[in-house]
Amino acid sequence: MALGTWAPANAAELRSMQLSATADSAVLTLALTDGPSPRVFTLDGPDRAVIDLPGTRAVRRMALPEPAGLVSAVRLGRQPGDTLRIVLELKSGVAVHSSQATGPSGQRQLTVSLGEPAAPPDPAPKPVRAAHEPGDGDRDVIVAVDAGHGGSDPGAIGHGGTREKDVTLAIARALAARIDAEPGMRAVLTRDRDEFLELRDRIQRAHAAHADMFLSVHADSIRDRSISGASVYILSVHGASSEAARELAEGQNAADLMGGALVDAGAAAPVVLDVAQQESIGLSATAAERVVSALEHVGEVRRAQVQRAGFVVLKSPGIPSMLIETAYISNPGEERRLRNPGQQARLADAICGGVRSYFVQNPPDGTRFKQERRVASAAVVAGAPGSTGAAPLDP
Ligand SMILES: [Zn+2]
Repeated sequence: MALGTWAPANAAELRSMQLSATADSAVLTLALTDGPSPRVFTLDGPDRAVIDLPGTRAVRRMALPEPAGLVSAVRLGRQPGDTLRIVLELKSGVAVHSSQATGPSGQRQLTVSLGEPAAPPDPAPKPVRAAHEPGDGDRDVIVAVDAGHGGSDPGAIGHGGTREKDVTLAIARALAARIDAEPGMRAVLTRDRDEFLELRDRIQRAHAAHADMFLSVHADSIRDRSISGASVYILSVHGASSEAARELAEGQNAADLMGGALVDAGAAAPVVLDVAQQESIGLSATAAERVVSALEHVGEVRRAQVQRAGFVVLKSPGIPSMLIETAYISNPGEERRLRNPGQQARLADAICGGVRSYFVQNPPDGTRFKQERRVASAAVVAGAPGSTGAAPLDP
Protein backbone atom coordinates (compact mmCIF):
# COMPACT_ATOMS: atom_id res chain seq x y z
CA MET A 1 0.00 0.00 0.00
CA ALA A 2 1.25 3.43 -0.83
CA LEU A 3 2.03 5.35 2.30
CA GLY A 4 1.14 8.56 0.52
CA THR A 5 -2.48 7.60 0.99
CA TRP A 6 -2.16 8.37 4.68
CA ALA A 7 0.36 11.14 4.50
CA PRO A 8 -0.63 14.24 6.44
CA ALA A 9 -1.55 17.25 4.38
CA ASN A 10 -3.47 20.42 4.85
CA ALA A 11 -6.38 18.84 3.05
CA ALA A 12 -9.03 16.89 4.89
CA GLU A 13 -9.50 13.37 3.57
CA LEU A 14 -12.59 11.60 2.38
CA ARG A 15 -11.82 8.05 3.39
CA SER A 16 -14.90 6.06 2.53
CA MET A 17 -18.41 6.35 1.13
CA GLN A 18 -21.27 3.99 1.80
CA LEU A 19 -24.66 4.10 0.14
CA SER A 20 -27.80 2.26 1.10
CA ALA A 21 -30.95 2.91 -0.91
CA THR A 22 -34.52 1.90 -1.57
CA ALA A 23 -36.74 2.94 -4.50
CA ASP A 24 -37.67 6.24 -2.81
CA SER A 25 -34.95 6.92 -0.25
CA ALA A 26 -31.22 6.65 0.32
CA VAL A 27 -28.59 7.24 2.98
CA LEU A 28 -25.04 8.21 2.05
CA THR A 29 -22.44 7.89 4.83
CA LEU A 30 -19.03 9.52 4.49
CA ALA A 31 -16.00 8.98 6.72
CA LEU A 32 -13.86 12.13 6.80
CA THR A 33 -10.89 13.49 8.69
CA ASP A 34 -11.16 16.82 10.47
CA GLY A 35 -11.85 19.69 8.10
CA PRO A 36 -14.21 22.46 7.02
CA SER A 37 -17.96 22.00 7.16
CA PRO A 38 -19.65 20.42 4.16
CA ARG A 39 -22.40 22.02 2.08
CA VAL A 40 -25.31 19.83 1.03
CA PHE A 41 -27.98 20.95 -1.47
CA THR A 42 -30.22 19.75 -4.27
CA LEU A 43 -30.54 20.67 -7.93
CA ASP A 44 -33.32 19.83 -10.37
CA GLY A 45 -33.55 19.17 -14.09
CA PRO A 46 -32.25 16.47 -13.66
CA ASP A 47 -32.72 15.88 -9.93
CA ARG A 48 -29.44 15.70 -8.07
CA ALA A 49 -28.11 15.89 -4.54
CA VAL A 50 -24.77 17.66 -4.22
CA ILE A 51 -22.31 17.39 -1.34
CA ASP A 52 -19.46 19.90 -1.46
CA LEU A 53 -16.50 19.20 0.81
CA PRO A 54 -14.23 22.27 0.94
CA GLY A 55 -10.50 21.68 1.38
CA THR A 56 -10.92 17.95 0.99
CA ARG A 57 -9.43 15.24 -1.18
CA ALA A 58 -10.46 11.63 -1.57
CA VAL A 59 -7.99 8.92 -0.63
CA ARG A 60 -6.50 7.35 -3.73
CA ARG A 61 -8.45 4.62 -5.45
CA MET A 62 -11.39 5.08 -3.12
CA ALA A 63 -14.25 2.88 -4.23
CA LEU A 64 -17.39 4.76 -5.26
CA PRO A 65 -20.56 3.08 -4.07
CA GLU A 66 -22.67 1.41 -6.75
CA PRO A 67 -25.82 3.35 -7.61
CA ALA A 68 -28.93 1.71 -6.17
CA GLY A 69 -32.64 2.39 -5.71
CA LEU A 70 -33.37 6.10 -5.80
CA VAL A 71 -29.78 6.89 -6.81
CA SER A 72 -29.06 6.36 -10.51
CA ALA A 73 -25.42 7.53 -10.54
CA VAL A 74 -22.65 8.54 -8.13
CA ARG A 75 -20.00 10.95 -9.37
CA LEU A 76 -16.95 12.54 -7.77
CA GLY A 77 -15.32 15.72 -9.07
CA ARG A 78 -13.34 18.79 -8.12
CA GLN A 79 -14.65 22.32 -7.81
CA PRO A 80 -12.58 25.48 -7.67
CA GLY A 81 -11.08 26.29 -4.29
CA ASP A 82 -9.99 22.73 -3.50
CA THR A 83 -13.55 21.56 -3.04
CA LEU A 84 -14.38 17.92 -3.55
CA ARG A 85 -17.88 17.52 -5.00
CA ILE A 86 -20.01 14.40 -4.75
CA VAL A 87 -23.05 14.30 -7.01
CA LEU A 88 -25.85 11.78 -6.61
CA GLU A 89 -28.14 11.63 -9.61
CA LEU A 90 -31.66 10.86 -8.46
CA LYS A 91 -34.61 9.21 -10.14
CA SER A 92 -36.94 11.73 -8.47
CA GLY A 93 -36.69 14.90 -6.43
CA VAL A 94 -36.69 14.31 -2.65
CA ALA A 95 -35.92 16.25 0.53
CA VAL A 96 -32.31 16.10 1.66
CA HIS A 97 -31.14 16.18 5.24
CA SER A 98 -27.59 15.91 6.53
CA SER A 99 -25.96 15.52 9.91
CA GLN A 100 -22.37 15.38 11.02
CA ALA A 101 -20.77 13.82 14.09
CA THR A 102 -17.16 14.06 15.22
CA GLY A 103 -15.20 11.30 16.94
CA PRO A 104 -12.53 11.70 19.63
CA SER A 105 -9.60 12.05 17.21
CA GLY A 106 -11.38 14.46 14.92
CA GLN A 107 -12.71 11.86 12.47
CA ARG A 108 -16.06 12.90 11.14
CA GLN A 109 -19.02 10.96 9.90
CA LEU A 110 -21.32 12.84 7.54
CA THR A 111 -24.71 11.27 6.98
CA VAL A 112 -26.84 12.51 4.07
CA SER A 113 -30.42 11.24 4.08
CA LEU A 114 -32.54 11.52 0.94
CA GLY A 115 -36.31 11.08 1.09
CA GLU A 116 -37.79 8.90 3.82
CA PRO A 117 -35.23 7.15 6.02
CA ALA A 118 -33.70 4.13 4.30
CA ALA A 119 -32.50 0.92 5.83
CA PRO A 120 -29.22 1.28 7.73
CA PRO A 121 -26.00 0.51 5.81
CA ASP A 122 -24.85 -3.04 5.12
CA PRO A 123 -25.01 -4.95 8.40
CA ALA A 124 -21.67 -6.72 7.82
CA PRO A 125 -19.48 -5.34 9.32
CA LYS A 126 -21.57 -4.62 12.37
CA PRO A 127 -23.58 -1.40 12.19
CA VAL A 128 -21.51 1.70 12.63
CA ARG A 129 -22.45 3.35 15.88
CA ALA A 130 -23.81 6.84 15.66
CA ALA A 131 -20.74 8.91 16.32
CA HIS A 132 -20.36 10.20 19.83
CA GLU A 133 -20.27 13.82 20.84
CA PRO A 134 -17.08 14.82 22.63
CA GLY A 135 -19.06 15.75 25.73
CA ASP A 136 -21.02 12.49 25.89
CA GLY A 137 -19.30 11.44 29.07
CA ASP A 138 -20.26 7.79 29.13
CA ARG A 139 -19.87 6.36 25.67
CA ASP A 140 -18.46 2.87 25.14
CA VAL A 141 -14.89 2.43 24.00
CA ILE A 142 -14.98 0.88 20.54
CA VAL A 143 -12.55 -1.89 19.67
CA ALA A 144 -12.10 -2.82 16.02
CA VAL A 145 -11.44 -6.56 15.79
CA ASP A 146 -9.84 -7.53 12.51
CA ALA A 147 -9.84 -11.20 11.50
CA GLY A 148 -6.70 -11.64 9.39
CA HIS A 149 -6.87 -12.77 5.75
CA GLY A 150 -10.13 -14.05 4.20
CA GLY A 151 -11.69 -14.87 0.85
CA SER A 152 -9.08 -15.61 -1.80
CA ASP A 153 -6.33 -15.13 0.82
CA PRO A 154 -6.35 -18.18 3.14
CA GLY A 155 -3.37 -17.00 5.19
CA ALA A 156 -1.12 -19.75 6.56
CA ILE A 157 -2.29 -23.35 6.24
CA GLY A 158 -1.49 -25.89 8.96
CA HIS A 159 -0.25 -29.40 8.24
CA GLY A 160 -3.71 -30.69 9.16
CA GLY A 161 -5.30 -28.39 6.57
CA THR A 162 -6.51 -25.69 8.97
CA ARG A 163 -6.68 -22.33 7.21
CA GLU A 164 -5.57 -19.26 9.10
CA LYS A 165 -8.48 -17.22 7.69
CA ASP A 166 -10.99 -19.56 9.37
CA VAL A 167 -9.41 -19.61 12.81
CA THR A 168 -8.83 -15.86 12.79
CA LEU A 169 -12.53 -15.33 12.05
CA ALA A 170 -13.58 -17.73 14.80
CA ILE A 171 -11.29 -16.07 17.35
CA ALA A 172 -12.31 -12.58 16.19
CA ARG A 173 -16.00 -13.45 16.64
CA ALA A 174 -15.34 -14.90 20.11
CA LEU A 175 -13.32 -11.82 21.00
CA ALA A 176 -16.01 -9.44 19.73
CA ALA A 177 -18.67 -11.28 21.75
CA ARG A 178 -16.44 -11.15 24.82
CA ILE A 179 -15.82 -7.42 24.39
CA ASP A 180 -19.54 -6.73 23.85
CA ALA A 181 -20.26 -8.49 27.14
CA GLU A 182 -17.95 -6.10 28.97
CA PRO A 183 -19.64 -2.96 30.35
CA GLY A 184 -18.34 0.17 28.66
CA MET A 185 -16.81 -1.72 25.72
CA ARG A 186 -18.10 -2.48 22.25
CA ALA A 187 -16.56 -4.40 19.37
CA VAL A 188 -16.77 -3.83 15.63
CA LEU A 189 -15.63 -6.62 13.29
CA THR A 190 -13.86 -5.53 10.12
CA ARG A 191 -15.18 -8.73 8.54
CA ASP A 192 -17.79 -11.15 9.80
CA ARG A 193 -17.65 -13.59 6.89
CA ASP A 194 -15.17 -15.20 4.54
CA GLU A 195 -14.34 -12.20 2.37
CA PHE A 196 -11.16 -10.72 0.98
CA LEU A 197 -10.38 -7.26 2.31
CA GLU A 198 -7.63 -4.91 1.30
CA LEU A 199 -5.57 -3.83 4.30
CA ARG A 200 -6.66 -0.26 3.71
CA ASP A 201 -10.32 -1.32 3.85
CA ARG A 202 -9.69 -2.90 7.23
CA ILE A 203 -8.34 0.37 8.57
CA GLN A 204 -11.12 2.36 6.93
CA ARG A 205 -13.80 0.18 8.48
CA ALA A 206 -12.24 0.72 11.89
CA HIS A 207 -12.15 4.47 11.32
CA ALA A 208 -15.70 4.58 10.01
CA ALA A 209 -16.75 2.96 13.29
CA HIS A 210 -14.74 5.56 15.27
CA ALA A 211 -12.71 2.79 16.85
CA ASP A 212 -10.56 3.59 19.89
CA MET A 213 -8.31 0.59 19.28
CA PHE A 214 -7.42 -1.74 16.41
CA LEU A 215 -6.67 -5.44 16.97
CA SER A 216 -5.65 -7.63 14.04
CA VAL A 217 -5.93 -11.36 14.80
CA HIS A 218 -3.59 -13.82 13.06
CA ALA A 219 -1.97 -17.22 13.52
CA ASP A 220 1.73 -17.53 12.82
CA SER A 221 3.54 -20.04 10.63
CA ILE A 222 7.14 -21.19 10.53
CA ARG A 223 9.01 -24.12 8.94
CA ASP A 224 10.20 -25.49 12.28
CA ARG A 225 7.07 -27.30 13.49
CA SER A 226 8.29 -27.45 17.07
CA ILE A 227 8.03 -23.68 17.56
CA SER A 228 4.91 -22.52 19.37
CA GLY A 229 3.48 -19.61 21.30
CA ALA A 230 1.87 -16.24 20.79
CA SER A 231 3.50 -12.97 19.73
CA VAL A 232 2.14 -9.44 19.72
CA TYR A 233 3.36 -6.85 17.22
CA ILE A 234 3.08 -3.11 17.07
CA LEU A 235 4.19 -0.81 14.31
CA SER A 236 7.89 -0.03 14.28
CA VAL A 237 9.24 3.45 13.72
CA HIS A 238 12.52 2.05 12.45
CA GLY A 239 11.37 -0.81 10.25
CA ALA A 240 11.23 -4.41 11.40
CA SER A 241 13.05 -5.67 14.43
CA SER A 242 16.05 -7.72 13.30
CA GLU A 243 14.43 -10.96 14.35
CA ALA A 244 11.25 -10.38 12.40
CA ALA A 245 13.32 -9.16 9.50
CA ARG A 246 15.40 -12.32 9.54
CA GLU A 247 12.35 -14.54 9.64
CA LEU A 248 10.86 -12.69 6.74
CA ALA A 249 14.04 -12.92 4.75
CA GLU A 250 13.84 -16.66 5.23
CA GLY A 251 10.32 -16.65 3.91
CA GLN A 252 8.91 -17.97 7.15
CA ASN A 253 6.20 -15.43 7.41
CA ALA A 254 5.29 -15.84 3.78
CA ALA A 255 1.58 -16.08 4.43
CA ASP A 256 1.34 -12.63 5.91
CA LEU A 257 3.75 -11.32 3.33
CA MET A 258 1.59 -12.66 0.53
CA GLY A 259 -1.46 -11.24 2.24
CA GLY A 260 0.26 -7.91 2.15
CA ALA A 261 0.24 -7.55 5.91
CA LEU A 262 3.94 -6.85 6.01
CA VAL A 263 5.92 -4.28 4.15
CA ASP A 264 9.20 -2.63 4.85
CA ALA A 265 10.15 -5.46 7.19
CA GLY A 266 13.51 -6.75 6.18
CA ALA A 267 14.29 -3.50 4.49
CA ALA A 268 16.71 -1.08 6.03
CA ALA A 269 14.59 1.92 5.11
CA PRO A 270 12.62 3.28 8.03
CA VAL A 271 8.85 3.21 7.88
CA VAL A 272 7.58 6.71 7.16
CA LEU A 273 4.97 7.68 9.67
CA ASP A 274 2.85 10.71 10.15
CA VAL A 275 2.51 12.52 13.44
CA ALA A 276 -0.70 10.76 14.47
CA GLN A 277 0.89 7.37 13.84
CA GLN A 278 3.96 8.28 15.87
CA GLU A 279 1.79 9.43 18.73
CA SER A 280 -0.19 6.24 18.71
CA ILE A 281 2.89 3.99 18.83
CA GLY A 282 3.48 4.77 22.49
CA LEU A 283 -0.13 3.92 23.29
CA SER A 284 0.13 0.78 21.16
CA ALA A 285 3.16 -0.39 23.13
CA THR A 286 1.36 0.09 26.44
CA ALA A 287 -1.75 -1.73 25.21
CA ALA A 288 0.25 -4.55 23.60
CA GLU A 289 2.17 -5.15 26.83
CA ARG A 290 -1.15 -5.64 28.62
CA VAL A 291 -2.26 -8.16 26.01
CA VAL A 292 1.05 -10.08 26.07
CA SER A 293 0.92 -10.47 29.82
CA ALA A 294 -2.74 -11.59 29.64
CA LEU A 295 -1.83 -14.18 26.99
CA GLU A 296 0.90 -15.55 29.26
CA HIS A 297 -1.89 -16.89 31.43
CA VAL A 298 -3.51 -18.83 28.57
CA GLY A 299 -0.51 -20.67 27.28
CA GLU A 300 2.94 -20.25 25.99
CA VAL A 301 3.98 -16.86 24.76
CA ARG A 302 6.84 -17.21 22.30
CA ARG A 303 8.19 -13.75 22.89
CA ALA A 304 7.42 -12.02 26.17
CA GLN A 305 8.45 -8.71 24.64
CA VAL A 306 6.19 -6.78 22.33
CA GLN A 307 7.58 -7.12 18.79
CA ARG A 308 7.88 -4.31 16.30
CA ALA A 309 7.54 -4.53 12.53
CA GLY A 310 6.27 -2.57 9.59
CA PHE A 311 2.82 -4.09 9.35
CA VAL A 312 0.70 -2.07 6.94
CA VAL A 313 -2.46 -3.00 8.76
CA LEU A 314 -1.12 -1.27 11.89
CA LYS A 315 -0.67 2.08 10.14
CA SER A 316 -3.88 3.36 11.59
CA PRO A 317 -3.36 6.93 12.70
CA GLY A 318 -4.41 8.09 16.12
CA ILE A 319 -5.43 4.88 17.83
CA PRO A 320 -3.41 2.13 19.52
CA SER A 321 -3.09 -0.78 17.12
CA MET A 322 -1.59 -4.23 17.43
CA LEU A 323 -1.31 -7.46 15.50
CA ILE A 324 -1.73 -10.60 17.59
CA GLU A 325 -0.22 -13.84 16.32
CA THR A 326 -2.34 -16.02 18.62
CA ALA A 327 -0.31 -19.22 18.11
CA TYR A 328 1.63 -21.20 15.50
CA ILE A 329 -0.70 -22.89 13.06
CA SER A 330 2.43 -24.69 11.80
CA ASN A 331 2.78 -26.45 15.16
CA PRO A 332 0.52 -29.54 15.12
CA GLY A 333 -0.53 -29.16 18.77
CA GLU A 334 -1.31 -25.50 18.39
CA GLU A 335 -3.11 -26.12 15.10
CA ARG A 336 -5.47 -28.47 16.94
CA ARG A 337 -5.96 -26.03 19.81
CA LEU A 338 -6.63 -23.13 17.44
CA ARG A 339 -9.61 -25.07 16.06
CA ASN A 340 -10.96 -25.74 19.54
CA PRO A 341 -13.80 -23.38 20.59
CA GLY A 342 -12.67 -23.67 24.21
CA GLN A 343 -9.18 -22.46 23.33
CA GLN A 344 -10.66 -19.73 21.09
CA ALA A 345 -12.71 -18.55 24.07
CA ARG A 346 -9.65 -18.61 26.35
CA LEU A 347 -7.71 -16.50 23.87
CA ALA A 348 -10.66 -14.11 23.58
CA ASP A 349 -10.89 -13.85 27.38
CA ALA A 350 -7.21 -13.08 27.70
CA ILE A 351 -7.08 -10.51 24.93
CA CYS A 352 -10.23 -8.82 26.18
CA GLY A 353 -8.79 -8.72 29.71
CA GLY A 354 -5.59 -7.14 28.47
CA VAL A 355 -7.47 -4.56 26.43
CA ARG A 356 -9.79 -3.76 29.31
CA SER A 357 -6.92 -3.19 31.73
CA TYR A 358 -5.37 -0.82 29.18
CA PHE A 359 -8.57 1.23 28.96
CA VAL A 360 -8.91 1.32 32.76
CA GLN A 361 -5.46 2.92 32.93
CA ASN A 362 -5.72 4.96 29.71
CA PRO A 363 -9.40 5.89 29.31
CA PRO A 364 -10.24 7.90 26.18
CA ASP A 365 -12.11 11.16 26.81
CA GLY A 366 -15.86 10.94 26.91
CA THR A 367 -15.99 7.27 27.86
CA ARG A 368 -17.48 5.47 30.79
CA PHE A 369 -13.94 4.32 31.65
CA LYS A 370 -12.91 7.97 31.97
CA GLN A 371 -15.91 8.73 34.14
CA GLU A 372 -15.24 5.77 36.42
CA ARG A 373 -11.61 6.78 36.79
CA ARG A 374 -12.66 10.28 37.86
CA VAL A 375 -15.11 8.84 40.37
CA ALA A 376 -12.50 6.40 41.69
CA SER A 377 -9.82 9.04 42.16
CA ALA A 378 -12.33 11.37 43.82
CA ALA A 379 -13.22 8.57 46.24
CA VAL A 380 -9.55 7.98 47.04
CA VAL A 381 -9.03 11.67 47.76
CA ALA A 382 -12.18 11.93 49.87
CA GLY A 383 -11.34 8.86 51.89
CA ALA A 384 -7.62 9.41 52.18
CA PRO A 385 -6.08 8.64 55.60
CA GLY A 386 -5.53 11.76 57.64
CA SER A 387 -8.27 13.50 55.77
CA THR A 388 -9.97 16.17 57.82
CA GLY A 389 -13.26 15.25 56.23
CA ALA A 390 -13.24 18.42 54.17
CA ALA A 391 -12.67 16.70 50.90
CA PRO A 392 -10.54 18.89 48.64
CA LEU A 393 -12.86 18.51 45.67
CA ASP A 394 -13.72 21.38 43.45
CA PRO A 395 -17.38 21.40 42.56
ZN1 LIG B 1 -1.69 -13.85 9.17
